[in-house]
Amino acid sequence: MNRRHYDVVIVGAGPAGLSAARAAAQKQAHARIAVLDDNPRTGGQVWRHGPAYPPAPALNERLDALLRAGNVDVFSSARVVAPLDDRSLLVESAQHGLLELGCERLILATGARERLLPFKGWTLPGVTGAGGLQALIKGGVPVRGERIVIAGSGPLLIASLATARQAGANVLAVIEQAPWTAVARFGVGLFATPSKLWQAARLTHGFAGLRYLTGSVVREAIGDGRVEQVRIRQGRDGHLVLDCARIACGYGLVPNVTVGESLGCAVHRDPAAGSALIVDDAQRTSLAHVFAAGECTGVGGMELASVEGEIAGLQAVDAQREAARLQTQRDRWRRFARRVETAFAPREAARALPSDDTLFCRCEDVTCAQVREHTNWRDAKLQTRCGMGPCQGRICGCAAELYFGWNTAQVRPPFSPARIGTLLEAVRDTTPDAK
Ligand SMILES: Cc1cc2nc3c(=O)[nH]c(=O)nc-3n(C[C@H](O)[C@H](O)[C@H](O)COP(=O)(O)OP(=O)(O)OC[C@H]3O[C@@H](n4cnc5c(N)ncnc54)[C@H](O)[C@@H]3O)c2cc1C
Repeated sequence: MNRRHYDVVIVGAGPAGLSAARAAAQKQAHARIAVLDDNPRTGGQVWRHGPAYPPAPALNERLDALLRAGNVDVFSSARVVAPLDDRSLLVESAQHGLLELGCERLILATGARERLLPFKGWTLPGVTGAGGLQALIKGGVPVRGERIVIAGSGPLLIASLATARQAGANVLAVIEQAPWTAVARFGVGLFATPSKLWQAARLTHGFAGLRYLTGSVVREAIGDGRVEQVRIRQGRDGHLVLDCARIACGYGLVPNVTVGESLGCAVHRDPAAGSALIVDDAQRTSLAHVFAAGECTGVGGMELASVEGEIAGLQAVDAQREAARLQTQRDRWRRFARRVETAFAPREAARALPSDDTLFCRCEDVTCAQVREHTNWRDAKLQTRCGMGPCQGRICGCAAELYFGWNTAQVRPPFSPARIGTLLEAVRDTTPDAK
């Protein structure tokens, strides 16, 4: 196995990870730094780019800074599969094969993932997450002229709307589960962050040419072999059916804490907001040499992720004074994050378990009726195989946390399907007798 040692290793090359790398590299020219990300391109979620989507200027700015600094190795298509101990990670890299990355300090910037909640027909081709649709479009999937309904909750619906419209889709409606009073209050609160107000106006165009329905949820995707219609519950008793070719439905984001949790970092559990890594003012986790930044510490958007990353990067190279200067900025974006969380917290209709025959775990074909018979996640897994398919509960585990309040943490490596050879190497490296 290929072994490398760094002063600072950063997992995740989104706004938090790249900002951390830039801050650390610029502050400490002698520090050897590595950033790795499982995506083939750097940028994380918000700066995702593809064939017809050039990299965002903010991404280029950070990558140029890393290149100029000359002390940062960037590993793309490199996934942390398991920790080997608290200072080294087992990594599968498309370019370098199997890697053991050792470090003095570790920064976790593993971001968040979309929360998908089941509804009747959600496994039909044409149903994706709201962020999922964005990723498909940026990856080159054509949607020009397609009738699309975007649904779920939170600002990601707006980002998805803008991407779909830019790609020529005919977005019929945006269906938001939060009530209009909460959305209106949030809108007024945007005056406290004018850049966000301007961004919202630019992305929505005032919702011209489509329906923006609040207090409403998708109840069913209907179609023969592919989505043809969507049934929406509007307010308390209203129903609406729209003809469409795609439904992009996501109920906000939940932090991606798997790597941190498996290392032993303390986690704050919250079924509504998702579990998040606990950090102090220095972005330090409960382990002294491990820092965390961005959405793995709580969902808060790109600006918060960037400033947290910067603080973590500076702290990791012992530049405490410079890091402390960024706290006011971080507090400001944390207040914004709290307003988002309050406005778009899942309400009763979104938290209601769908009908018994709806598939809950789509990897293992387990229905809602089968899951709700159990009292905890472990029981449900053992008795039904729920959460034991290829996604390892990343999707149905989120739903189970929200509906039943279960702890669905997945801390046993490998975190994702890994090559047999990788696991054998890991055993050989950590078990002297196996050599
Ligand atoms: C699908 C999706 C689409 C989004 N689109 C937008 C948008 O258009 N506009 C917007 O303002 N916000 C968007 N967001 C919100 C966005 O997540 C944040 O605002 C911002 O990207 C957070 O930055 P971050 O650095 O914390 O995390 P991210 O940008 O999510 O970066 C984390 C990175 O860590 C990597 N990673 C995680 N685990 C591992 C591992 N084990 N090994 C290697 N790499 C790993 C991930 O692949 C990811 O690239 C989106 C979120 C999601 C989930």
